[in-house]
Amino acid sequence: MNGTILVADDSMVVRAVLRRQLETDGHTVIEAVNGEDAIDACREHHPDVILLDVEMPVLDGHATLARLKADPQLKDIPVVFLTGRVDTADVVNGLRLGAHDYLRKPFEANELMARVSAALRTKWLQDELRTRNAELDRVSRIDMLTNIYNRRHLDEHLRQVISAARRHDRTVGVLIVDIDHFKEVNDEHGHLAGDAVLREVAARLQQAMRTEDALGRWGGEEFLAVLTDTPPEGVRVMAERLRQVIAAAPFTLDDGSRIRVTVSVGHTNGTEDAEVLVHRADDALYVAKAEGRNRVAAA
Ligand SMILES: [Mg+2]
Repeated sequence: MNGTILVADDSMVVRAVLRRQLETDGHTVIEAVNGEDAIDACREHHPDVILLDVEMPVLDGHATLARLKADPQLKDIPVVFLTGRVDTADVVNGLRLGAHDYLRKPFEANELMARVSAALRTKWLQDELRTRNAELDRVSRIDMLTNIYNRRHLDEHLRQVISAARRHDRTVGVLIVDIDHFKEVNDEHGHLAGDAVLREVAARLQQAMRTEDALGRWGGEEFLAVLTDTPPEGVRVMAERLRQVIAAAPFTLDDGSRIRVTVSVGHTNGTEDAEVLVHRADDALYVAKAEGRNRVAAA
């Protein structure tokens, strides 16, 4: 297990000893001569472990640790205190402030290596956990069938976009896209074909959208698109583009048969609460359906 280790100590001799031992063990070493210097080095090099001297000029070890813990970017780097004091209270104090471990000077090479390895292991487990959590968060926002956002994400996203729009005096576009006569696809071709159509509709809609906008499956055969910072005319143009991209070419099913699929789109624009905008787009969708489907309608 090799890592990048920051050695922060005002003594050049201590730094040289630590560097030699750590490099012998295969680690990469960065040096800092005081607390301020250590914090700058952390920002620049993102070390895996920090060996931090307690007694240093400018900013001592305890004050440096407090600064590290207060910084979201740096707070998870394990800190091992280096102390010349034999006082247990001092050690306890350091651990209470959030230090991972401590080493008493003068240190033995074996003990140094063991403690650095333990700190490295902690760091890597934390990193792995963070990666997995991020992946779980991503998965929890994706609709498994269509691989676009699900309702949970759209709900949250819509709220954020509306609040940002209010702050910046802009409006949000909300479009509900509903597949026409979807029940017939399922009835005539089976549910697998129905699923394939849902996937293809999602893919075509996604391709027609701008990267800054969000598209998700709202439920059943209904999709919802959120357009940030788009005037009413832009929302109408997008609604029409989404309608066309579905109607333009037939869908090919797994058995080779080709079917025609169309969608109806209801759209609106504003900065009201999410429920209000969605409800209004839904009302417009109802109008598009009533007027004969394969068309768009504004609220
Ligand atoms: Mg010192």
